Amino acid sequence: MSKKNSVHETLFNQEFLASPTISEKFPTVSSVNIKMVFRDDSGNGTIESQNKEFTSMSKAFFQVKCRQRECVNGGFDLSNLITSAINSQQTIAEGRLSCQGWQDLERVGNNHCLWILDYEISVQYAQN
Ligand SMILES: [Zn+2]
Repeated sequence: MSKKNSVHETLFNQEFLASPTISEKFPTVSSVNIKMVFRDDSGNGTIESQNKEFTSMSKAFFQVKCRQRECVNGGFDLSNLITSAINSQQTIAEGRLSCQGWQDLERVGNNHCLWILDYEISVQYAQN
């Protein structure tokens, strides 16, 4: 683990542990699925694709790490997007976020990372 990110990393892990489960936070939701495609700052090509499945027992923790190795304090937070999708009973929400971390240690305060996350969130609701 590189030193520069260790404080960030610790906070990330603490927030994960402190998060409620999906069933505690969103009792009407049975599962959440997030399709993610990471791209560099050009917005083209694919660095990595990932699918994440959350069941009702999963932690309601929707922060995602930036894939740019030198990125300082970056990442993507889908929490508000997911919360507002659920509050409006949406089943699909998609869009694009850009990383607001810094490109590397030398560019802190000058150049944002701007790597891209294209996401597609789908929410399944429990029947009652
Ligand atoms: Zn980044």
